[in-house]
Amino acid sequence: MNTEVTNAGVDASLNINPTLHFSALGLAQPILRAIADAGYTTPTPIQAKAIPLVLNGGDLLAGAQTGTGKTAGFTLPLLHLLHTKHQQAQAGKPRCLILTPTRELAAQVEESVKTYGKYLHLTSMVMFGGVNINPQTARLRKPLDILVATPGRLLDHVAQKNIDLSGVEFLVLDEADRMLDMGFVRDIKRILALLPKHRQNLLFSATFSNEIKALADSLLHNPGFVEVARRNTASEMVTQTVHLVKQANKTSLISYLIKTNDWKQVLIFTRTKHGANRLAEKLGKDGIPAAAIHGNKSQGARTKALADFKAGNIPVLVATDIAARGLDIDQLPQVVNFELPNMPEDYVHRIGRTGRAGASGAAVSLVDTEEMKYLKDIEKLIKREIPKVEVEGFVPPVRQEAEAPRPPKPQQQRRPQGAQQKTTQGQAQKQGQPKPKGNGKPLSEAARHQAKPQKPQFAPKGQVHHSGNRGR
Ligand code: AMP
Repeated sequence: MNTEVTNAGVDASLNINPTLHFSALGLAQPILRAIADAGYTTPTPIQAKAIPLVLNGGDLLAGAQTGTGKTAGFTLPLLHLLHTKHQQAQAGKPRCLILTPTRELAAQVEESVKTYGKYLHLTSMVMFGGVNINPQTARLRKPLDILVATPGRLLDHVAQKNIDLSGVEFLVLDEADRMLDMGFVRDIKRILALLPKHRQNLLFSATFSNEIKALADSLLHNPGFVEVARRNTASEMVTQTVHLVKQANKTSLISYLIKTNDWKQVLIFTRTKHGANRLAEKLGKDGIPAAAIHGNKSQGARTKALADFKAGNIPVLVATDIAARGLDIDQLPQVVNFELPNMPEDYVHRIGRTGRAGASGAAVSLVDTEEMKYLKDIEKLIKREIPKVEVEGFVPPVRQEAEAPRPPKPQQQRRPQGAQQKTTQGQAQKQGQPKPKGNGKPLSEAARHQAKPQKPQFAPKGQVHHSGNRGR
């Protein structure tokens, strides 16, 4: 990675303090060497705050989303602690367990563990579903210090008695809010019950719903609290634009935009898996190579699509929100919302795919009149109006003009709302829509483990510990 770009970029986007160096945080030399190799000189705010707290041995509740450097925020101090409290690694008995909601995030976190731990004698592995279990079982027969896992596959290994979780000294719940959104609450509870009582716990979440607070209360003991870059802070580095367009003309418009602007790498969000497939197919027919990535795709297909996109072999990746979660694609210049999400926070998360690490980016949203209510909610959340721009030279195809616009369908994993019924723009704006309530249908990735009904949340127990910068 280019040092200059990285550090200049992070300074600009994350209010990094350039006078603070990693060397001041007390991390072991081999870790500092690996950090230097990665091209980082200064910790991001979440790292500057979280690393000393974790090194101190306390529990941590951290509010941070992908793109803030949160992964190194927990990986670096954990590597240090595992290294300095060195113990002989045992087969199938990890000392550190990191749980993530998605396969992609699990893979990326384990990659970070390997990157930052490359000069240490610690071992790691990643496990997730959707791939053959046997190689993972074979890997578990060898010594293991750090395990990065999605909850479902971990429980499969528990059921097969491939793994012993009684040696876990460090537990990380990464993107805990998304894990709860995905319906993993029961799985997490089952996993927690298998861990030893005495351990250090870190919980990372972009949002703090009551469910997350209850989970934190049940899991963490007198935690330190750090928070950076709230989820509802839209990136200043991203230029945002809205094109008002009928649903039926969106595919032609996106084709037109890609061709006329010569976009070389664009991530497009659709609300549904089916919509992602259909759009990728149509773009392909239009001479624009595109791949779709979503929960129904096999792990192999997802990995290949992402690798092809990252390598620049295909210019367009069409993704659903959940598949894109946690994707770390450096310097992504262009994000398109083919449909607006019905949860305004998801918009912020989507546009956060671009303008990362300080690079500038652009986010374009194609908005049908049916979606005006979503647009208003988004503008309210980000506290600014997004400019509505006409696309010069775009002539909608006559054939499609006659078609009735297809209203956006509710996302499978999201909570149904009134706005998804057909309304005119005027009606939609007048409707005082109730806030979505309750848990939505679990995602397919989680569905296998969600056959039975779940209790809505963890019961808080003992003292309530949240918020406030608690020095320890
Ligand atoms: P994360 O929020 O953990 O997904 O990290 C976002 C991106 O920031 C990743 O590409 C990291 O490699 C990069 N990054 C993490 N820490 C630093 C740092 N201290 N300086 C520069 N880049 C960083």
